Amino acid sequence: MKDFTPLSETHKEQLLVKLCSRFDDAIFILDADLRYMWVNAAYEVMVGYSETFLVGRPLGIYARKFLGQREQRILKDIAYRLDEYGYYQNNLSLTTRYGQTLDCHITFRRIELSDGYYHIGMVKDTCPNTETLERVSHLSNYDQLTQLPNRKVFLSQTSDLLLDSYREVVIVRINIDHYRMLANTLGQEHADTLVQQFAKRVTDLQLKNMHIFSHFGSDDFAMLFEFIDANLVRNELDSLMQMCERPFVTNKHPIYLKISVGISYAPENSKQMHDLLQYAEKAMQYVKQQGGDDIYWYNPQLDLDNDQRLQLEAELRGAIQDAQFVPHYQPKIELSTGMIVGFEALVRWQHPTRGLLKPVHFIEAIIKHKLSFDLFLQMAEQIAQQLNTWLGMGFCQHICINAEAAEFSQPNFYEFISGLITQYRIYPEQLHIEMTESSLMLRHSNVQYQLMKIKNLGVKLALDDFGTGYASLSYLQEYDFDFIKIDKSFISKIISDPTQSAIVKAILDLAKALEMGVVAEGIEMREQAELLNNMGCQYAQGYWFGRPMSAETATQLLIDQHAADDAAN
Ligand code: C2E
Ligand code: MG
Ligand code: MG
Repeated sequence: MKDFTPLSETHKEQLLVKLCSRFDDAIFILDADLRYMWVNAAYEVMVGYSETFLVGRPLGIYARKFLGQREQRILKDIAYRLDEYGYYQNNLSLTTRYGQTLDCHITFRRIELSDGYYHIGMVKDTCPNTETLERVSHLSNYDQLTQLPNRKVFLSQTSDLLLDSYREVVIVRINIDHYRMLANTLGQEHADTLVQQFAKRVTDLQLKNMHIFSHFGSDDFAMLFEFIDANLVRNELDSLMQMCERPFVTNKHPIYLKISVGISYAPENSKQMHDLLQYAEKAMQYVKQQGGDDIYWYNPQLDLDNDQRLQLEAELRGAIQDAQFVPHYQPKIELSTGMIVGFEALVRWQHPTRGLLKPVHFIEAIIKHKLSFDLFLQMAEQIAQQLNTWLGMGFCQHICINAEAAEFSQPNFYEFISGLITQYRIYPEQLHIEMTESSLMLRHSNVQYQLMKIKNLGVKLALDDFGTGYASLSYLQEYDFDFIKIDKSFISKIISDPTQSAIVKAILDLAKALEMGVVAEGIEMREQAELLNNMGCQYAQGYWFGRPMSAETATQLLIDQHAADDAAN
């Protein structure tokens, strides 16, 4: 056995410091003027502020003018008693950073050292069931899925920072694009996993100057930054956007998440927390309306745009009523012969004051305001009428109509289509319906059943913008399409980029194996048409052959083609 050695002063001090640091009760040291000098871990957990934040701040944390009357009274009492008796104790309820109140017993002692006075405070939580309390506190402050602080905590930290900061405070709002669609396609469980992976990746980025990364629920996130110049946030957001370029994996499928990001900052936009949050939200909504996958900084012009959008909704309803939507027709060519085999009907809005508008100006609003079925009815009626006219002239080309998959869940969809065919005495094969996979992703009930019924009638179905969505191949298995339309983004660089032509080749092989026809979209040059023809692609559309045109011009094209054909024979 070793000889007994009495405890040296240095050891004693070291042991006591360790004990205090790890003590279950909260302990802190204040200077003579009641400013924080040191706090232990239990105190940090109890009040929700870190030691770095607290050191140098006055007891009560904020300058007096920001405190309520009750707090001011208590602080005055503590200062008086410590001055007078060197001791203070009381049962108090303490408000934490998260706005929670804790019942506790607090003791202060004034201690004199050679260089002056210090105060030591101890706080004991008097609530008997601290574990429950912690759980409740965790539940009410953190999102249960991602374990990130929730909106309440975000608001509290933002208001703290706005009060304290002499720098620029940046609020960033983030939504995952098409989250509802993803959740419907993958199932909620896998969507939850995606959200968890997203949250973890963002946390791992350890973005500089970020005070808090918060989860408001579902696909809704927020960040709070502080910079000398708000523009410095751009670097951090660049790495956020880059992070999304790596696929997320759920249910063994790689998923590419896109995000919409809105930013506001103080003091430029406002110094008020609620304004700033609302502005960042508006900027984010703006990105979403523009198709997502972008970052936008709030500016007051956005509010004006919003008014215009409201006006647009009223106008759209009027336009449906007054039948201002008309089809324009883009020729579809058989590549091997150069003959027009059909047309795609593309909607145009004959606006009373703004002239002829393209879908980019209104189609999203149509979908958002649930007017797409009304638009479909209006377009389909005019198209059937056109087919009837052409049949009367001896032309039996087909017309493709664009539809949102949501249309197929309309209970009277089948009856409407079969009624049109009978009423206008057209061949069902002359009517093609094309839909994008992004609209299929919404998984409206009944779509598959309705499509099958329409197909049995003889109507042809095409999958539009193939390759641009999340799960193109799975749709080919699920639905019985007659045609695939290769999106123009694959065609644009087909001459110069070997990867693009390899992709197109693979799509052509796949379509052949599945016995589907292929239409290449967006042909703008002769070389593209020739290459596609050599690769075995049957049909094509694009400015090279003809832009979308009025019914009269399209009819004239058919007449000219017929005449040329006659002359050749
Ligand atoms: P989409 O169905 O993929 O139609 C092709 C779009 O590409 C059309 O734009 C067409 O004008 C354009 N385009 C055709 N050839 C070329 C080319 O060589 N180069 C380039 N750069 N573009 C070309 P548009 O008419 O503006 O229509 C845009 C989208 O709006 C359509 O894409 C379709 O998704 C939607 N849309 C159009 N009409 C309707 C409709 O009646 N109902 C619904 N629900 N959506 C429609
Ligand atoms: Mg189309
Ligand atoms: Mg397309």
